[in-house]
Amino acid sequence: MDTFIDQHISDLISKRRRLHQLAEASNKEEQTAAQIEEWLRETGPDELYTGVGGHGVIAVYGPEGAGSSLMFRAELDALPIPDSRELEHASEDPETGHKCGHDGHMTHLLGLARWLQENRPQKNRVMLLFQPAEETGEGAERVLSDPVFKKLKPERMVALHNLPGYAKHSVIVKKGAFTSASVGVKFHLEGETSHAAHPEDGNSPALAMAALINALSALAGNSFSEHTFALVTIVHARLRLGDIAFGTTPGRGVVMATLRAAETEVLERMIPMAEKQAGGICSAWDLELETEQTEYFQTTVNDDELTDSIKRIADENGLDCIEPSYPFPWSEDFGRFSDASRVMLFGLGAGKEHPQLHHRGYDYPDELIVTALRLFIGLINESEG
Ligand SMILES: [Zn+2]
Ligand SMILES: [Zn+2]
Repeated sequence: MDTFIDQHISDLISKRRRLHQLAEASNKEEQTAAQIEEWLRETGPDELYTGVGGHGVIAVYGPEGAGSSLMFRAELDALPIPDSRELEHASEDPETGHKCGHDGHMTHLLGLARWLQENRPQKNRVMLLFQPAEETGEGAERVLSDPVFKKLKPERMVALHNLPGYAKHSVIVKKGAFTSASVGVKFHLEGETSHAAHPEDGNSPALAMAALINALSALAGNSFSEHTFALVTIVHARLRLGDIAFGTTPGRGVVMATLRAAETEVLERMIPMAEKQAGGICSAWDLELETEQTEYFQTTVNDDELTDSIKRIADENGLDCIEPSYPFPWSEDFGRFSDASRVMLFGLGAGKEHPQLHHRGYDYPDELIVTALRLFIGLINESEG
């Protein structure tokens, strides 16, 4: 494996930087997908699919009807966060940046594609999925319902996410729930406008919004035991009236909150509770209420056997393995694949002092490419062995 890595690492680093320059936000990953397709074709996959669930791309290596199938997943999308201009490989679009390291994750799979070109699996099929729209929580769902994915039906699916805040090259993994379920809920409150001198003639939702913000903030803490992680974050609140006018009492408002829980079932209980509270508050204030859900993520539940494998492979490669006792509070739409396959998501430490994900100063650390390749190739070898 060392010779393989020596031969390909500088090419992979330059590919990672090219992908960084191409940064495209969720659902706009057209150029990135075209670039990935071009590079995958050079490795002669047995099957290659494009336009999966949007701009998704899947490459398949190994004989049809093979014993078992293992799919690795990376994400195509960047974020609407400006890139640091001082980077030599800064994004070509000043408004969009690869601030979650998905450029690195794609590069891991490009490295695997090269490996598979030279080391064609005999017993199993290995598939590489470049998934669109992860950041908005839509991509996995769309890939799942795409006929191509339904036909390929991978038995096992593996993904990693780089994690700043952890020692570089450490492996972070646990069995069972690994990342949380979450949903964005928008509460639209509708009253009546009036002259600011006569608020009694209208019905401003301002006080009801304050009550709703309080009630939502208390929901997680009050309703669930400390063993079952649950969290409500108010992300946005606004009184709306078109233009801001000091002469008018507003008649509409919106409160947006993100609800999170370690288990999908707990989140499913929190949503109607939040809606019931909002309903009670609005009827007390005589306001109309409309609720809307967006960006739904379910819990990623890690398969026992796959988790044991990655721990063993990390150990063989002399990497530290960290097992958190609770699931992470953030969400990953990879969890959606648990419905169709046995899944495992693990973290790869990006450095204790490395800027956090989604931070302006973040850039994927290229040193992780080799580590990710060793781990992924280890998994392929185990299933071939
Ligand atoms: Zn992200
Ligand atoms: Zn990410």
